[in-house]
Amino acid sequence: MPDNEGIIESTFKINCPACGSNEILINKHLSEVPYYGKILLITFKCERCRYKFNETYILDEKAPQRYILKCGETKDLNIRIIKSGNSTVHIPELEIDIYPGPDSEGIITNVEGLLNRVKDVIMLLKRNYKSLEELERIIEKLEFLNDMLEGKRPFTIIIEDPSGNSAIITKENLTIENLTPEEIKNLDTGNQFSIDLGDLVEE
Ligand SMILES: [Zn+2]
Repeated sequence: MPDNEGIIESTFKINCPACGSNEILINKHLSEVPYYGKILLITFKCERCRYKFNETYILDEKAPQRYILKCGETKDLNIRIIKSGNSTVHIPELEIDIYPGPDSEGIITNVEGLLNRVKDVIMLLKRNYKSLEELERIIEKLEFLNDMLEGKRPFTIIIEDPSGNSAIITKENLTIENLTPEEIKNLDTGNQFSIDLGDLVEE
């Protein structure tokens, strides 16, 4: 581990949002991301009920931004993603939108890790399907997502973050746009996880 990374542990007198206990352990992990800057990942963990929560903070001032990443090869799965709890994620080819909600947390992951989180949610939907037609759509989504994970289908990841605390760390196939005040106003809508179970868009 390089010198500029480290873990600081301390116990604060704050209450757990889940059980009310004040035994909260806070881990702060400072990372330096090349070409990007310093990122603070804070993990809150309740010692009594194990409630866990992460958030990311970028230590340099960032503007509200939209990141658009075009992926098409398996190597793109390794691209590093910092997603703050305030951000909205869209994967248009899969017709999936993830909005910030009360349980949204900050994660430091890569494209593959993000897709696997989406897959977990789709698997959950698969277990609780409401009709055979819906089940069919869910299975189609899963197959599409598996193809994405194997580099067989190109896709786009869009992250919109009014706090500027998100980032996609790559120099290739990435477009970064500033969000307009109007766009920021319209960001925080919808359910936390939205999946369109209509027909898939064929290329
Ligand atoms: Zn607790």
